[in-house]
Amino acid sequence: MTGVVVIGGGQAGLATGFYLQRSGLVPDKDFVILDAAAEPGGAWARMWPTLRTFSPTQYSSLPGWMMPPWTGDSGYPLAAHVVDYLTRYEQRYGLAVRRSVAVRSVIRGHRGLLEVHTGRGDWLAEHVVSATGTWTRPFVPAYPGSFAGRQLHTADYRHASDFAGQRVLIVGGGNSAAQILAEVSQVAGTIWVTLRPPRFLPDDVDGRVLFELATRRYRARRLGGPDTGGVAGLGDIVMVDSVRAARDRNVLRARGPFARLVEHGVRWRDGSESSVDTIIWCTGFRPALGHLTSLGLRGPDGRMRTDGTQAIQEPRLHLIGYGDWTGPASATLIGAGRTARDLVTKL
Ligand code: FAD
Repeated sequence: MTGVVVIGGGQAGLATGFYLQRSGLVPDKDFVILDAAAEPGGAWARMWPTLRTFSPTQYSSLPGWMMPPWTGDSGYPLAAHVVDYLTRYEQRYGLAVRRSVAVRSVIRGHRGLLEVHTGRGDWLAEHVVSATGTWTRPFVPAYPGSFAGRQLHTADYRHASDFAGQRVLIVGGGNSAAQILAEVSQVAGTIWVTLRPPRFLPDDVDGRVLFELATRRYRARRLGGPDTGGVAGLGDIVMVDSVRAARDRNVLRARGPFARLVEHGVRWRDGSESSVDTIIWCTGFRPALGHLTSLGLRGPDGRMRTDGTQAIQEPRLHLIGYGDWTGPASATLIGAGRTARDLVTKL
């Protein structure tokens, strides 16, 4: 039997491993970290290479060891720098992540313990921490009609040069859409579609400010005070250098949603049509929780009830990352540490 099985070796799984080890548990003995991927870095290893963090390194760090300074240029670190940091973090703390081990299901076993089933062995666990992120569950909204051209999601985007000379429709009002639009619009004609008018943060607001807001919310919650709210009131899109440059080129102009897909593009609500070669869906991700289905923890609204990180109907199960519902800023580099500390304290 294993004390704790952590599913997922991205930033959330590593931060959990850090605190489990600090509490006296031995990696790969008292707890194991399983990861489906062959390489370290979690989602950061799959993001497009020109993606940058929206905060400086000291605001993009896990517990114990700061992300090394970024010296590449004057901007914030590129995704590869984060992958390198997570790789070294794992080695530094000897977290011994078991790779290429995909968890297929978690079920209740003998004496109420949890059985973790993978294609490469099974584990019986006293506690399971699910830290599987969202990257493997890209979300694309349903629209009527069909489009004969190329469609891809943020998760599949790599280089703007793939779209050189094309007409590209970019759907989505968040940071991924704004950053991909900023790049693609340099080599292609673009149309930007958002559900509601995009909301840009002031130029001087970046991940630092967002983290401070999350900190205020965390403290208020701990003291039993009123919810001070998240970042929603401020806006959504961080004005990183590339997005500011796009604003200066006047390409940050968004249209409301189209009515349907047509063979060569989209039809707008006024009946007019636009022809495009490619549609890039920057429409977000959903929590990757398929491995927990057999526990039957979802309510009628499809959501799993949690008290902080703990599943209310299965107290041996904890969740970290995914979104604010497992802890303020739990799905960011810096916020994962605080949530992991609370989670391990509770365990
Ligand atoms: P992941 O990094 O996705 O790691 C989950 C791990 O679980 C993966 O390694 C995966 O292989 C594994 N896994 C999944 N399913 C299974 C399974 N069934 N069995 C075993 N293993 C499994 N945050 C910031 O702090 N700063 C930023 O600037 C920033 N920019 C972002 C930009 C984009 C485009 C996106 C999408 C997110 C950004 N984030 C940023 C948010 C956040 O840091 C990432 O989403 C982060 O990767 C979440 O970490 P995680 O450990 O929860 O999940």
